Amino acid sequence: MNKIYFIKTVSKETFEKLISNIPMNIFSKNDFVAIKTHFGEEGNTEYIKPDLFRPLIKKLYKLKTNAFFTDTNTIYSGKRSNAITHLKLAQQHSFSQEKMGVPIIIADGLKGNDYVEVEINQKYFKTVKVASYIYYSNVLICLSHFKGHMIFGFGGTIKNLGMGCTSRQGKFLLHNSLKPNLKLERCIACYICTKYCPGNALTINCELKTINFIQSNCIGCGECIHLCPKKVFSIPWDLSYKEVQEKTAEYALGVVKSKENKDSNYKILYFSILDNITKDCDCMNNPQPSKLKNIGILAGFDPVSIDYASLKIVNEYYNRTNHNNIKEDLFKTFWPEIDYSYQLEYAKKIGLGNDKYEIIEIK
Ligand code: SF4
Ligand code: SF4
Repeated sequence: MNKIYFIKTVSKETFEKLISNIPMNIFSKNDFVAIKTHFGEEGNTEYIKPDLFRPLIKKLYKLKTNAFFTDTNTIYSGKRSNAITHLKLAQQHSFSQEKMGVPIIIADGLKGNDYVEVEINQKYFKTVKVASYIYYSNVLICLSHFKGHMIFGFGGTIKNLGMGCTSRQGKFLLHNSLKPNLKLERCIACYICTKYCPGNALTINCELKTINFIQSNCIGCGECIHLCPKKVFSIPWDLSYKEVQEKTAEYALGVVKSKENKDSNYKILYFSILDNITKDCDCMNNPQPSKLKNIGILAGFDPVSIDYASLKIVNEYYNRTNHNNIKEDLFKTFWPEIDYSYQLEYAKKIGLGNDKYEIIEIK
């Protein structure tokens, strides 16, 4: 039975208490410890602020480890698409050596092409591309902000591991089944989408005052779906999101395998932060309305159990506080078309983790 530790409310004080109640024996002196988080897209205000993580940094310092914050580059255009502007943005969001006392390193290098292949031999992939600095670190701390997501229904630990710890090439492979459907009759020729499309799949059609869609160039990043003010683009729900979720679980498996010990234990500690629960993820470039805030923090050593436990706690909290007397799944209210269970079921099937857990509440 996996132990999932939980403390109510989200603050430096509760985080410190949580850390002092969980086993920290996966860390050894001089270990390189990659703390994988999300520095927040430019304009986003709901990402988890670094100040919360101070107790963790203090603990890693006491354990005499070489810890660093890290994330990987995005496949869509923007400040997080290369290491230089990504680091500048991280600094603006207070993730800096000066403020946090540990370096910030972009795990897949300058242009997101720095990775190591890890063999997994699964249905979609024989090998997966794990970002180099995550691969070469001795221990991984996976800090996940639990919230909604337009492809996964909810974005938690499985997604942070699978999508968040791979290089840009890996992300292309995960997304490339997601070619959007188009309703071009809605197009008002604002041409926002043509500026941001990373695959050069969208070009200006001046004559018809619309766009051309070159399907063979589309890498399925989904950026246009967010950007278009007229909802010209939509996800072909029936065929794509299941595959992206399953592929991401395979990538997560590769990341976990890269941290396997001689005694077949994995040197990964997971945290799931239940705060600022938004419909969309921290990659959105504007403030997002938060449905729920300040529920609590979970910690554990099984990536699947911690997602199951996070879902349960968030939904129980939601139903306790929304006063409707109707039992609802918050993530289904966000994304009714998406079955998020694909990521969980497939993760169990391939041995990424399981749903056999007990919640240990720290008081
Ligand atoms: S963003 Fe939408 S409305 Fe604007 S050009 Fe692209 S498809 Fe047309
Ligand atoms: S068309 Fe849309 S989904 Fe395809 S690459 Fe361009 S922005 Fe991404």
